[in-house]
Amino acid sequence: MNANYLQTPIAYLKGVGPNRAETLQSELGIGTYQDLINLFPNRYLDKTHYYKIRELQRSSAEVQLVGKIIHIKTIEQKKGKRLVATFTDDSGEMELVWFRGQKWIRENLKLNTPYVIFGKCNWYSGKFSMPHPEMELLATHEKGLKIAMQPIYPSTEKLAAKGITNRVTNKLMQQLFIETKGQFTETLSPSLLHELKLISKSEALFNIHFPKNQELLAKAQFRLKFEELFYIQLQLISKNLSHKQKIKGYNFDQIGEPFNDFYSNRLPFDLTGAQKRVIKEIRADLGSNAQMNRLLQGDVGSGKTIVALMTMLLAIGNGFQACLMAPTEILANQHFNGIKELLEGMNVNCALLTGSVKKSARRLIHEQLENGELHILVGTHALLEDKVQYKNLGLAVVDEQHRFGVAQRSKLWHKNEIPPHILIMTATPIPRTLAMSLYGDLDISVIDELPPGRKSIKTVHRFDSNRLKVFGFIRDEINKGRQIYVVYPLIQESEALDYKDLMDGYESIVRDFPQPNYQISIVHGQMKPADKDYEMERFVKGETQIMVATTVIEVGVNVPNASVMIIESAERFGLSQLHQLRGRVGRGAEQSYCILMTGHKLSSDAKTRLETMVRTGDGFEIADVDLKLRGPGDLMGTQQSGVLNLKIADIIKDNDILHTARHHALQILKADPSLEKPENLVIRHTYAQLVKHKNIWTYIS
Ligand code: ADP
Ligand code: MG
Repeated sequence: MNANYLQTPIAYLKGVGPNRAETLQSELGIGTYQDLINLFPNRYLDKTHYYKIRELQRSSAEVQLVGKIIHIKTIEQKKGKRLVATFTDDSGEMELVWFRGQKWIRENLKLNTPYVIFGKCNWYSGKFSMPHPEMELLATHEKGLKIAMQPIYPSTEKLAAKGITNRVTNKLMQQLFIETKGQFTETLSPSLLHELKLISKSEALFNIHFPKNQELLAKAQFRLKFEELFYIQLQLISKNLSHKQKIKGYNFDQIGEPFNDFYSNRLPFDLTGAQKRVIKEIRADLGSNAQMNRLLQGDVGSGKTIVALMTMLLAIGNGFQACLMAPTEILANQHFNGIKELLEGMNVNCALLTGSVKKSARRLIHEQLENGELHILVGTHALLEDKVQYKNLGLAVVDEQHRFGVAQRSKLWHKNEIPPHILIMTATPIPRTLAMSLYGDLDISVIDELPPGRKSIKTVHRFDSNRLKVFGFIRDEINKGRQIYVVYPLIQESEALDYKDLMDGYESIVRDFPQPNYQISIVHGQMKPADKDYEMERFVKGETQIMVATTVIEVGVNVPNASVMIIESAERFGLSQLHQLRGRVGRGAEQSYCILMTGHKLSSDAKTRLETMVRTGDGFEIADVDLKLRGPGDLMGTQQSGVLNLKIADIIKDNDILHTARHHALQILKADPSLEKPENLVIRHTYAQLVKHKNIWTYIS
């Protein structure tokens, strides 16, 4: 069936009409025949098996049974009436329950006649009951076409309320196959079909909606998953390749004096092998005439900052300016101070621009940026304001890019005619495969080695009831001259409650650690930036021993003397957040500790998270567990959760298919970058269609 025909509005399909069309559109985003055909079942029900009542389990699975109704009655309740039938087979008895449509059911149900029933069972006051079962007379059932596996389509409450039940969706799908005769244009090239032994598009679509048997269903799923991942990879890879060809970048052909001076005279430590390797990768990019777009991944404390600084020095040595953007004022401050210290005595000018910089100072910065006196600008989102104009920005470093939307990234991008090189640093370890699919348009460098001499952080899980012991431990550490973080969760939805927890906790700490022996800082979101900075500063300088905070300190803050991280209500944090928080300690020479405090009631996911934290300090291992617990959408944060809205494939479970797809996409594009060869015609055509109808990810800036 040709592709244009599939763009027919869904309202024209027999059985749909304007009302249903509207519901399909608003609930499932189905606007055309094509969209409907791509509505893949979430799962399939095995209707080959008939359960006995005796065999029923207290699980949520749907079951099919054969039996008779021997009794039916209406029960009046405060909340309304319900109809209850007693259903038996030769193994036992259960109830069927209706809350709606009772009159019709009462009039039409046949007593003492064999029925096949189907649905989900509840365990309710000592008995199994099935609300609103699907029912069919056994006699009719035996005559009918038996679909071994019944597809279950994605649905919403509203769809069901408007009468678009699974059965209706199924009917519509049948109608679609009738109207299209089940013939669909092939969308993969003959050589791919051959090489991977894939079934044809038409066969795959038929069997995904009306599986003839398990084997064909598996083949259909494989083919469609491969196709989905293949075109995504094709898009990502071709963006990356064409980017390199088309987007010219400044050529930094020199190493330059600032870099050399810094490297030979001022580097405070030897670089790790990983840092050296990454700097080499970056240097290769900068000298390639194309814009660099590189993601620098490195666990907390792996030493990304120095890599960023040396990259900025390369820019300066080639006559360009550089900027470094951080997600919070605290971090921007810290970067600024750190950089200033490292550059002490060098002829490199550096300024800080954040929301709280005064107008007059701001004006001076603008001026010096425009005339080129300023070499490095460090700051927050304030860097993105239109007033900030550079003489010649050659490099933009973005720290902790998760906090930045893609839109902001591209805003930085469009400041010059020739875009600056971009280095994005992130401490959130993203498993390789996920990074590959999400950031296929970026090149990736990984610092996979911590600076030498780091002691691993001892992590323990303690219940709230042991708080006194924990406080005793804190006291000992403080007496040894160490500093302590105590972190409370802050979740926007319950901000007021969280705030109360934090203040209660703070008060109890103040009671147990009284002045003048102990000084305590507190930092939370409801404070003014200046006050936050002041409190933070006191802790950084060692004037206070305990920092009570919400997750403000999660990112990047560096206080090497802090050796204990106490995380309150640890069960409420995600794994990657826990890992980030833990990374705040273990930065000095001393043994560091992370104490995860919780109550006794823990969900099984929470237990897994805590156990994982106690077991390992490896960010990538933690990220893998996190991915398994949460799924990729969540991992990336809400900003990007839509990104992984795949129709059929699953980035985690279908990891192997992803690799295969990527491999083939890469090979095809390498041999034929603009897909001009005849054997790639199908691919070129399909890809163009996908882009045209926005059926492929369009999130990449
Ligand atoms: P992150 O990757 O989390 O941003 P930082 O760049 O803040 O890590 O580095 C963490 C700490 O490790 C800093 O105090 C930094 O000075 C130090 N550091 C970085 N690289 C090395 C190295 N090669 N040898 C010793 N210390 C290092
Ligand atoms: Mg950092």
